[in-house]
Amino acid sequence: MRDAFDREITYLRVSVTERCNLRCFYCRPAETEHPHGDDLDAAAVVRIIRAGTRVGIRKVRLTGGEPLIREDIVEMVGAIAAIPGIDDLALTTNGTLLAPLAHDLKKAGLKRVNVSLDTLQPERFRRITRGGELAATWEGITTALALGLAPVRLNAVVMRGINDDELVELALLTRDYPLHVRFIELMPIGQASDWAASRLVSVEEMMARLEKALGRLEPQKSPRDGGPARYWRLAGAPGTIGFIAPMSNYFCPSCNRLRLTAAGTLRPCLCREDEVDLRPLLARQASEAELAQAIAEAIRRKPEGNDETAMRPVRDRLMSEIGG
Ligand code: SAM
Repeated sequence: MRDAFDREITYLRVSVTERCNLRCFYCRPAETEHPHGDDLDAAAVVRIIRAGTRVGIRKVRLTGGEPLIREDIVEMVGAIAAIPGIDDLALTTNGTLLAPLAHDLKKAGLKRVNVSLDTLQPERFRRITRGGELAATWEGITTALALGLAPVRLNAVVMRGINDDELVELALLTRDYPLHVRFIELMPIGQASDWAASRLVSVEEMMARLEKALGRLEPQKSPRDGGPARYWRLAGAPGTIGFIAPMSNYFCPSCNRLRLTAAGTLRPCLCREDEVDLRPLLARQASEAELAQAIAEAIRRKPEGNDETAMRPVRDRLMSEIGG
């Protein structure tokens, strides 16, 4: 279905849980909390996605929080993969629980994974994630490569004075492995809403620093489903380097997504507080057609985009509730 600005909305990102086994300082508060109620049950998620196919949803990404902490994640993946009309099913994860689950996830119908990885230094990883083990994430990444959950993309949020000195090391992974390393500008959302600007490294600066250290980057044609990332390659490398510039590049005109929060609301735009609440419909066992109408309403409510290139801080939800 097309929205009011003639964008075809085909992509639903689903935060399947607000909870996470890591507590990245820019994403979540230090203490465990669960501010907006219980996560949707798997049956509700599947019904919403099935209803979404009635209005043109074809691609689904499961995210969170950490999707792999859900005990029913493999069954959920299997049920979503079986929905007629869903032709792409991907998952975003911190990778720590991926190695033991990857085989079953693939068998259930998962096509590919994005793994978040902000640093290659174990001690720094522990600090950023407040206690996580880099080795577990790395094992998840190598398992995904071995099983062909491809393309395997690594997402690194670049923060000045925190990990921007690792741009080159992270980029060099693409020479050694068929990995697609994507550098992301830090957004002023949730936990980072008040200070993101002071740690922001623009994509322009990232590229200049990488080219200075590694030589010219060759532009690559963006993959069909590459979304807002623009891709480049180091000469002869099997992998690619992507850049996602939500702060310095206005890509709202090509936005094709809708987000389902862990609590059961549809969010037409990552950066706007406006949401369509599906919980009352779910509570009264509304029909799939009624759910599809609510999804269509959320698509109609998608705003044109940020007013300027600068994104306004988002304070009503944590990134883990919206799903990134
Ligand atoms: N737990 C999973 C993971 O680690 O990938 C999925 C959820 S996490 C919220 C999704 C992505 O959002 C991660 O790559 C994380 O780094 C990114 N993220 C969180 N806060 C962000 C922010 N303020 N700006 C940019 N990216 C952010």
